[in-house]
Amino acid sequence: MTNLIFEKSRNGRRGVIPPRGTAGEPIALPKEALRKSLHLPELGEVDVVRHFTELASRNYNVDKGFYPLGSCTMKYNPKINEDAANQEGFLRLHPLQEEDETQGAMRLMYTLSTMLSEITGFPAFTLQPAAGAHGELTGLLIIKAALKDKNETRRNRILIPDSAHGTNPASAAALGFEIVEIPSDGRGNISLDLLAAEADDRTAALMLTNPSTLGLFEENILQVTKIIHDAGGYVYGDGANLNAIVGITRPADLGFDVLHINLHKTFATPHGSGGPGSGPVGVTKDLEPYLPAPILVKKGGRIRLDYNREKSIGRVRSYFGNFGVMVRAYAYMRSLGGRGLKRMSEQAVLSANYMRVKLKDYPPAIDRTCMHEVVLTGKPLADETGVHTLDVAKSLLDYGVHAPTIYFPLIVPEALMIEPTETENKDTLDAYAELLLKIRQEAKTNPEKIKTAPHNTPVRRLNETQAARNPVLRWTPKKNGG
Ligand SMILES: *Cc1c(COP(=O)(O)O)cnc(C)c1O
Repeated sequence: MTNLIFEKSRNGRRGVIPPRGTAGEPIALPKEALRKSLHLPELGEVDVVRHFTELASRNYNVDKGFYPLGSCTMKYNPKINEDAANQEGFLRLHPLQEEDETQGAMRLMYTLSTMLSEITGFPAFTLQPAAGAHGELTGLLIIKAALKDKNETRRNRILIPDSAHGTNPASAAALGFEIVEIPSDGRGNISLDLLAAEADDRTAALMLTNPSTLGLFEENILQVTKIIHDAGGYVYGDGANLNAIVGITRPADLGFDVLHINLHKTFATPHGSGGPGSGPVGVTKDLEPYLPAPILVKKGGRIRLDYNREKSIGRVRSYFGNFGVMVRAYAYMRSLGGRGLKRMSEQAVLSANYMRVKLKDYPPAIDRTCMHEVVLTGKPLADETGVHTLDVAKSLLDYGVHAPTIYFPLIVPEALMIEPTETENKDTLDAYAELLLKIRQEAKTNPEKIKTAPHNTPVRRLNETQAARNPVLRWTPKKNGG
């Protein structure tokens, strides 16, 4: 397949044409690339349909049950968002159509940017980045360009707290920055003393997640951003999860200069398995000139694409980003409205704190009021019974529910990170908490059962490393022709 090209033939139909050389002559594929024999499964349609229906029914998803994967925000995705994104007028657009033919879509993107500005306090946004990590890369590129403009290229260090999501140091390293890890203190805040000791004229930026991946609000946030600004650096905000603060506080008011938001988390669009995301980046007025081009501007009642941006870092993605995700996020925000979005945050925080109190025996890693998620530690249980967090997570699968995020953040031993989101009712939360307490009890009376879980799933414990390194992706017929 690799060398075949889909091309329009003379009669206008699309078809597969064989590979051709520069002069248009057909070229033969190398012998070693050719199949020696071809085995295709021979099955009736009904067998194929039943096979895939059966596989689909084994798949766990948020429409099937509770999915409290901390930091991933697996909230329910309302079906009205799908209706909005599946409208003919959106589905049939081509990215190369004229601006005048696509005003509806452009207006939606423009309004979405405005709503994000209102929520975060940043005057300007780009919608191009296709995921949170992509937003980080974009935001850091903007900071890098601004530093270069100010002749401050010696600022090549990015400070990152030890509780950060792994994408933060990865994005900084990808751009050649040096990474300095800043420890957290006993209350889960970034250590002010250690931060002040590291912030100097080599600091390009601090990358901070607030609420942090410990599910906690940074109590000294104004001091933190001031320390960095006084040292001449920028503050980058990882806003992947804004679920706790929408309508309550605005990152720009807290001193952040750049922020990415994961529309696919906070604003309820389906994600997972590397599926489509959207990681818009908002910036202060000072950083606006560096945003990726083109940007959307309003001129004479029309929305236009402005490419004339001298200081722009350039494009970070083909065309305009993941438009379908933007439509879903827009529909979500529109259907909840301003007050509804605030209630979303309040409910998400209430649900997480409800779980924190119900599960106080686990116990929480840091016992103070949490934001949209709660991080527990299975360390006392492991010390007492030898049953580890991995075993608890596997045991949950036997009851047909999804495990929380485990072993993250890295600074919490035996971490279990539960993000219930605002879309779950009390019965669901109660049932899940009781199940976790039941497994904890069983770990004491019958630890072997938990250590060998899961017992009822289609496959038991897998060698996950081997499955990732040596995946078996190819169908091979059985020798007996079965
Ligand atoms: C999910 C997440 C990211 C990365 O987002 P992707 O869309 O998966 O690239 C970054 N930071 C935090 C805190 C996250 O939860």
